[in-house]
Amino acid sequence: MSDKYDVVVIGSGPAGYVAAIRAAQLGLKTACIEKWKNAEGNGVNGGTCLNVGCIPSKALLDSSFKYHEAAEGLAIHGISTSGVAMDIPAMLERKNKIINQLTGGIVGLFKANGVTALYGTGKLLAGKKVELTDNDGAVSVIDADNVILASGSLPIAIPVAPVDDDLILDSTGALEIGEVPKRLGVIGAGVIGLELGSVWGRLGSKVVLLEALDDFLAIMDKAIAKESKKIFTKQGLDIRLGARVTGTQIKGREVEVTYQTSAGEELKETFDKLIVCVGRRPFTDGLLSADSGVEVDERGSVFVNEFCATNAPGVYAVGDLVRGPMLAHKGSEEGIMVAERIAGHKAQMNYDIVPNVIYTHPEVASVGQTEEQVKAAGEPYNVGVFPFAASGRAMAANDTDGMVKIIAHADTDRIMGCHIVGPSAADLTQQVAIAMEFGSSAEDLGMTVFGHPTLSEAVHEAALAVNGNAIHIPNRKRR
Ligand code: FAD
Ligand code: NAD
Repeated sequence: MSDKYDVVVIGSGPAGYVAAIRAAQLGLKTACIEKWKNAEGNGVNGGTCLNVGCIPSKALLDSSFKYHEAAEGLAIHGISTSGVAMDIPAMLERKNKIINQLTGGIVGLFKANGVTALYGTGKLLAGKKVELTDNDGAVSVIDADNVILASGSLPIAIPVAPVDDDLILDSTGALEIGEVPKRLGVIGAGVIGLELGSVWGRLGSKVVLLEALDDFLAIMDKAIAKESKKIFTKQGLDIRLGARVTGTQIKGREVEVTYQTSAGEELKETFDKLIVCVGRRPFTDGLLSADSGVEVDERGSVFVNEFCATNAPGVYAVGDLVRGPMLAHKGSEEGIMVAERIAGHKAQMNYDIVPNVIYTHPEVASVGQTEEQVKAAGEPYNVGVFPFAASGRAMAANDTDGMVKIIAHADTDRIMGCHIVGPSAADLTQQVAIAMEFGSSAEDLGMTVFGHPTLSEAVHEAALAVNGNAIHIPNRKRR
């Protein structure tokens, strides 16, 4: 039997490693178990986010954006380029270096904060005991006063398009494509489909996205989703809605995809590579013994209350493993909340203000409620919209696609949601998220002095527009 810990965390993705660091900072004796191994067979921290998710996808998005700008976006500034070429292996190597730097950084952070890093597979037993099977197969049992489950999620597999890591890839394989496919098929026009479709589209692939739903970005604010679709289509992404994939067939070095349209038509399309990105599922395989006392809901998520406590006393679960959006920052904040509550603090998390970003260009970002949600709740509201086409800074940057939309309560003027498609939408939305966290009204934001010329002036103007006071566009009539 090993030492007893105050806290044992299973999983070191952004939910687990952040929870472990915060617990150790608060004086709790903490260990974090991770089973991920790198190509050399060594244990690696960071989970999906650092190894095959947020960071590598953003590295490829940034590389491909720079290539595309250099190849096609500079002439308008009077800069002529020729012979612009993309070295795909170099692009992948850069991405891998960033992964290694960041995953190695967690080892350093664990050391600095006194977290014991354990490598192997953890399983929760009854009575807050954790069985550890290390990477050499040795089994031990660790006693803990508290256990935090943070085992994350996996891509959903669909039988009609079985991933073979050659022609049919999941999101992990799509980060490793060694040469630009001429024709790239994507099943699912969600976040991953749009981000990775953009990467390979910018590098020269003809990208077709097959989306089962009739609505594009169905959970986003409708006006922003509509504008985004227009922009992505203009960029060359072929987005086919109401297209449910019913089968795939490998024919030599090609994949033939059969899909059914909402109108009932059966169509076929042939690709050189196919990416399957139809969502992710919570990862509980082998995590819980039958008598662990932890309940899993019908969607496979570990059941937790608003403080991320499971049904088993002293056992918590955070991140993609539990309800809510599968976002790195959501899991990290849950990890911090749980660590602080274990340490006796009265921490809580505001689930109403969790920003959500799609890192295309332009970015699509949102925080708070959509207009459709506000309407459905029967709340009176006002909307302010400002297009980037009217922003001097966006014009200077030749980046005028998109708009800012702010929704505020009609009686209190309190900001209820902000939705942006446009340049730097992620950072602009974050500004509004901060304002919302402080209970800001649209008028408060309107009375704030914004630097000129900045993209954030578009947020200022949208806030002014909520009450019919925008300066740089004609105001819409107040409802
Ligand atoms: P994970 O990051 O999945 O980590 C769980 C860890 O637990 C893994 O390392 C796993 O090996 C380990 N584990 C599992 N079971 C055990 C066990 N029994 N014993 C020991 N260890 C175990 N989110 C964003 O917010 N922004 C983005 O830009 C973004 N981009 C993404 C791009 C892609 C391509 C993908 C796939 C995802 C992206 N996400 C993004 C989502 C984000 O990666 C996840 O929300 C986040 O990683 C979830 O964190 P987590 O700690 O809950 O789980
Ligand atoms: P998603 O839920 O965003 O999109 C999946 C899409 O696939 C949906 O629109 C769905 O209708 C469609 N679909 C499902 N089955 C289908 C079928 N048979 N044929 C055609 N379409 C089908 O999921 P994702 O893109 O796989 O991403 C998974 C999760 O990872 C996201 O929900 C998000 O939580 C996280 N993520 C976040 C970011 C980010 O924050 N920037 C980036 C990547 C991933």
